[in-house]
Amino acid sequence: MKKKAIVFVIVLTSVSLVGIVFTQLFWVKKSLDLKSEQFDNSVRIAIKSVLNQFMDMKNDSVFQQKLLLISCRKPKLDVTDVIPPRLLDSLLTEEFICMGLGGSYYYGLYDRSIGRFVAGRYPDNEQQLLESPYQFSVASLFRPGDYYLSIFFSGKSGLVLRQMEGWLLLSVFFLIILIISFIWVAYTIFRQKRLSEMKTDFINNLTHEFKTPIATSSLAAEMLLRPEISDEKDKVKKYAGVILDENLRLQNHVEQVLQVALLEKGQQQYKFRRANIHQLVSSAIDSFSLIIKEKNVDISISLDADRYIAVADRAHILNVFHNLIDNAIKYSHGRPVIQISTWNTKNHIVIRVSDKGIGISPQHQKDIFKNLFRVPMGNIHDARGFGLGLYYVKTVVNHHNGRIEVKSELGKGSSFDIYLPFNEEKLKV
Ligand code: ADP
Repeated sequence: MKKKAIVFVIVLTSVSLVGIVFTQLFWVKKSLDLKSEQFDNSVRIAIKSVLNQFMDMKNDSVFQQKLLLISCRKPKLDVTDVIPPRLLDSLLTEEFICMGLGGSYYYGLYDRSIGRFVAGRYPDNEQQLLESPYQFSVASLFRPGDYYLSIFFSGKSGLVLRQMEGWLLLSVFFLIILIISFIWVAYTIFRQKRLSEMKTDFINNLTHEFKTPIATSSLAAEMLLRPEISDEKDKVKKYAGVILDENLRLQNHVEQVLQVALLEKGQQQYKFRRANIHQLVSSAIDSFSLIIKEKNVDISISLDADRYIAVADRAHILNVFHNLIDNAIKYSHGRPVIQISTWNTKNHIVIRVSDKGIGISPQHQKDIFKNLFRVPMGNIHDARGFGLGLYYVKTVVNHHNGRIEVKSELGKGSSFDIYLPFNEEKLKV
């Protein structure tokens, strides 16, 4: 898939996801409003029922008799004679339970003419009661006066939310799964795309690296086949040498690719023996003697480690040093300036290969150890390679329980430190 198409699909899906989230929020809000309205209606029905029961009681002849007796004792009936607080309390509780309105509530009988509560249960909640939306006139039960029954539910929003809790949690859960899956799919698509680009680059490089030696050795073979050449021993020797060199180059490439293929499968064999790390560093440097001369490399070596014997696989560690020195030369402009040094820490011998080459930007430093990764070239450098070297280095160093650290600044140079433990315990296994 083209990058533009992928970006388009991902943007479209992101917009749809945001749309779904907002639609969901809208419906949740609507449901909450509906539930809140339902709650209000239930409160109204419960209060109406309580007031009706008081009305029935007021019309009852026995109660009227009782009121008559009370009115004989005092000059004027109170609202609490018609609506006894205890009865009001128990009727309200009964009705609220019956309507499924759990949670704590306060209520009070308020006399608007004097601006005061005259009965009820409202510890320090007078203000809330006054602002409550549930205010009911009791004028039909008691006159004169301007009395109101006012109720306040302290946990109304909690109650409404609790009623929808299950559905809310379920939709949040599904939304989270949807968002995580989407992020994962988008990430995987981009990773696969990058991997496929890296593989294409690798194949292109491989083809190029194979084509040049094949073409050169074919040409040399053609020259050898010319009849007039057979008498010129020097030329025969020269062309045979070219074929041999190119063959060795091909062999090296094949070896490199095969080695990494084995690493990938975890089938690389390691032979751990005591090794003189200084000797291995020197051997690696020696193998570059021709290139060092050819490119006039400024190389300085200070092997200062006192403990330089470590248990290691000699062939692999030699390859590791070889790869680092090769990169140091390859990624330098003009005359390469290279420093190789060693020293000890408590448990390691540290080998540093540093150069004053093109350097690596911080954004790419974490990727250079990945298989097939090459810093995108632009026009920074034209060095050929497969992106296998540092991956191999890191895998081998990890197998030796060591670590590799890179310090680099773009345009100023790079420095690779290998921390190799002495690994004596590997011999005991
Ligand atoms: P290759 O050199 O074959 O491309 P490597 O795995 O050895 O593969 O290196 C990966 C990338 O890291 C290289 O493509 C290069 O961009 C960068 N790199 C490695 N060593 C150096 C160095 N000494 N200086 C600058 N860049 C480097």
